[in-house]
Amino acid sequence: MNSPSDSIDDIISLLNKHYRPNSNQEQQSQQYQRPKPSIGNVMLPQIKQQLNVLSAIPNTYNNNQDKFKRKAASLNRQQQPKQQIKDTNSFQIPMTRYLTFKPYSGSTDIIINDVGYYYKFGSSPIKLVKGLLEENGFKESNDKNWTLYWSSCAIKSEIYTNLFAYQKVCHFPKSYEMTRKDLMHRNISKMQINHGFINFNFIPKTYILPAEMSYFLEEHEKIKNNNPVYICKPHASSQGKGIFITDKIQDILNKQNSNNSYVVSHYIDKPLLINNLKFDLRIYVAISCINPLRIYIYQDGLARFATEAYNSDSVKQNRFVHLTNYSVNKDSPNFVANQDPTLDYLGSKWSLLALREYLKLNKINEQQIFERIEDLIIKTIISVESAIFQACEMNVPFRSNCFSLFGFDVLVDSLLKPWLLEVNFSPSLNIDAPLDLKIKGEMLADLFTLIGIVPLDQRFSQDLSYVRNQSNYDFKKHQQEFEKYIIKETEEELKRSRGWKRLYPSDSSSKYTKYFESDRPLNALLRNYYK
Ligand code: ADP
Repeated sequence: MNSPSDSIDDIISLLNKHYRPNSNQEQQSQQYQRPKPSIGNVMLPQIKQQLNVLSAIPNTYNNNQDKFKRKAASLNRQQQPKQQIKDTNSFQIPMTRYLTFKPYSGSTDIIINDVGYYYKFGSSPIKLVKGLLEENGFKESNDKNWTLYWSSCAIKSEIYTNLFAYQKVCHFPKSYEMTRKDLMHRNISKMQINHGFINFNFIPKTYILPAEMSYFLEEHEKIKNNNPVYICKPHASSQGKGIFITDKIQDILNKQNSNNSYVVSHYIDKPLLINNLKFDLRIYVAISCINPLRIYIYQDGLARFATEAYNSDSVKQNRFVHLTNYSVNKDSPNFVANQDPTLDYLGSKWSLLALREYLKLNKINEQQIFERIEDLIIKTIISVESAIFQACEMNVPFRSNCFSLFGFDVLVDSLLKPWLLEVNFSPSLNIDAPLDLKIKGEMLADLFTLIGIVPLDQRFSQDLSYVRNQSNYDFKKHQQEFEKYIIKETEEELKRSRGWKRLYPSDSSSKYTKYFESDRPLNALLRNYYK
């Protein structure tokens, strides 16, 4: 498998020789029928009933008529985001079949029949991932014969190098360039220098200490009369651990003596508030392919609220006022757990869709906020595209092997400008409330459907996804055939996108071309195709 082959035929015959699945497996896969996804099944009578129940619930967030209207409006939001799907039938390339996944029901009592699909964890098992895969007929594997590899940690290079084309791993190499707080800031700062500050002005100004201490002190000197406030975070930490907010430079200097390196950012002290509470957004983002680059945003996500009323003059040490992490606020006496996923705007955690409707009803231009969020997602990913692309070329055998799920944390200020706080490498898939199960369960089922897992009987079919990244495949000679294949692959993926909305490529891809370190031929192909 490791020797590069000259043509697709060579590769296919090599694969067929060594790894042809036995006929028994093929038979099983044909018998296996996946249940239809349950998204979009909300019925009008149920909603009506919920509205009646709603009026009886004491609500900290003003029970008013608007809320009732908003819930009714939620009927419309079950629709798929609008996608631009073109007709590729004229290419006369047969459609590839892929598995579709239903969301996890939350059951702890799953009977798994061995139908030949296996998953493997590279870190401790995650209940949601395990439950969802098992309910969809996957079994945990102890050997190498797995289809899907899930890990909340980085993946070892020997896992990448030995992948078959049908295998999927849930991280791209070098994604940490975007998910480590210090590296993310370094990469975006580089884009600010190379492409204009104004175009990448969506992260708070940040310093990595102690390395940038003298630069930080110089900059502080220039603005000290405005009494700047800083938020300081240990560079490799999460869940609000070790964070402090201060306007005293001495507090930051004191940290110099500790061994930890700190990320110090300007504090955004005028956040948009709802019911006087600060909140941030957890946006799910997927990269399904790096070459060509394909980026998706999930239509739903979470809004996480602080649990004490916001006041920029309040003692900055009060974490329940200034931090919006669930892990921090769940310990507050004011924390209100959401008990009913259909009432997704009650309590300290809302669904993203509920938040958008709330903003709309309050005449806040949520569409503009989300357009800006989509723009910052594309730009952030472009800032690390080259690093990931090169790492894949070196370590990953096939274009189809990797996908990634990221959690973008976004804070919106009172001028409706979204600020990127951080990108999570392995966004929490914990189920602490029924709302988590609903949103994360549907998101994950849609993700597994999106990434395109082929049925057993198709694993070794003749297909251009079997061209190895480092093969001597003559792209020039087969250019037309290969380009048609890429378009077909991209369109088929879009048809499987369900709750995922594709951000890139799109009909406005060309405005981002200048930000790429290199204009890859396959990105150019899709850019022209969607123009
Ligand atoms: P962690 O990885 O520890 O969760 P984050 O960067 O997500 O660290 O920050 C934790 C919380 O602190 C955020 O959810 C947000 O509420 C608040 N926060 C972070 N950075 C800023 C900032 N620059 N301005 C205002 N609030 C911030």
